Amino acid sequence: MRKSIASAAVAVMAASLFTAAPAVAGKGHTDQAPKPVNTRKLERAVTVNGVLQHLRELQVIANRNDGNRASGLPGHTASADYVAKRLRQAGYTVKRQKFTFAFSRELEPATVNQTAPTPQEFETATFDYSGSGDVTGQIVGIDLTIPAPAEPGSTSGCESADFPAAPAEPSIALIQRGSCAFADKANNAEAAGYDAVIIFNEGQDGRQELTVGTLGAPSGIPVVGLSYQDGVALASTDGAQVRVTTSTENDLNRTTENVIADLPAGAKVKHPDQTIVVGAHLDSVAAGAGINDNGSGSAVTLEIAEQLAALKYTKKKLQRPVRFAFWGAEEAGLLGSEHYVSELSSANRAKIYANLNFDMVGSPNYARFVYDGDGSSGGVSGPPGSEAIEKIFTGYFDSKNLASAPTDFDGRSDYGPFIEAGIPAGGLFSGAEGIKTEKEATLFGGTAGEAYDACYHSACDDITNVSTKALAELGDAAAHATLVLLQARTGLFPDGSIAPRSKAQKVSPAAPGNPAHAAR
Ligand SMILES: [Zn+2]
Repeated sequence: MRKSIASAAVAVMAASLFTAAPAVAGKGHTDQAPKPVNTRKLERAVTVNGVLQHLRELQVIANRNDGNRASGLPGHTASADYVAKRLRQAGYTVKRQKFTFAFSRELEPATVNQTAPTPQEFETATFDYSGSGDVTGQIVGIDLTIPAPAEPGSTSGCESADFPAAPAEPSIALIQRGSCAFADKANNAEAAGYDAVIIFNEGQDGRQELTVGTLGAPSGIPVVGLSYQDGVALASTDGAQVRVTTSTENDLNRTTENVIADLPAGAKVKHPDQTIVVGAHLDSVAAGAGINDNGSGSAVTLEIAEQLAALKYTKKKLQRPVRFAFWGAEEAGLLGSEHYVSELSSANRAKIYANLNFDMVGSPNYARFVYDGDGSSGGVSGPPGSEAIEKIFTGYFDSKNLASAPTDFDGRSDYGPFIEAGIPAGGLFSGAEGIKTEKEATLFGGTAGEAYDACYHSACDDITNVSTKALAELGDAAAHATLVLLQARTGLFPDGSIAPRSKAQKVSPAAPGNPAHAAR
């Protein structure tokens, strides 16, 4: 996840985006410009205490369910029960959309130990969807490039011809990260008769550390990672014997769900075919309670839903319908949001006007990142309309004298399937495992040189792992943007139109939820 920082002196957005009205031709007068949406009441109603109340509930749920809230495990179902109950109590029409997915989790940490010629222990990690096993065998290097090629692109293990016939005794394929999917390497090794696979990092800058990722589908043999340095050490040891152990649980057809809440039955809206989907993933990784990732986004989204109802917005005439979505199986690769978008008929897909996504908004060493809808920081831009959504957020932060910075619109969270379908999207992000720069520390406070969230995807992502300041600032910005999209009378998109975008714009395919789950 790459970060880039906008100019610190962000030009103050003219408050015109949602207020500009075309002059009426003739008669010598102009229309009154529509008033900007006043979101102060909702911002005041969406409080840190309200958000924390939901986070405490999610922590209790994790405590009662083996310490996690991962999709496919009881802690996620209990989280979905909680969210569904609160939304029903607030008057929403709630649906639980079930789907099946390939579940994978580690039961015990992997080990890699050289047993001969000299005993040595290596730091390792289990690939997602690795098989279980305890294999002691001979190391066989597979088409390795040492020293590393100047540019990433090693084809180690990418072709079945790379694999010499496995020796008769148990043998372990030592493979270098490179151009093809980890799954291809592992499948080729298994097909060639190897009993376990070690994949080490490729060796360029940024490809030195312990590598780990996802195979995407269950493998029959253990697949573990190593750093480049450790891979080279094993590759250059004559007659190396190694013991690899993994303990995993894989299930091709585990059931999980999205919780989807629509306006109360009978709610009146001006533009019923312009639904705003406000989403957050409710699942954690299996390693912890996931209170920042993504209890924080879930709690803020739930709090906005509850306060909108409490302020009777859901009974008054809204300009557009809102649909709150609590995605499942994001951590397994954005599967819930993907399922949701793929299940929409094209008519119903055309009725989704925009998607807001909140994935991590309470990071302890936080930044105020806004999805870079217009691609101005050099990354991918979103479908038309995404830049307008980005401006709602940056304009809001500007109005509060709070710095913000763009974050790559790289499909790393549940807005990915929406932008792939050509639906404009936007959202906020307070930072994950990335390291805060000096410049960001100046802009946002906090500590340079440390991760935004040092407990990202770890057991310590618990109720102590959130910044209440981040929850307050990003929570209010989320409430503001939600209400602007629901109530703006005109000018949602830069051309002043409120018509749905004209045609789907293809963007690069969504990457899985995070780098640790990268597929290659
Ligand atoms: Zn997340």
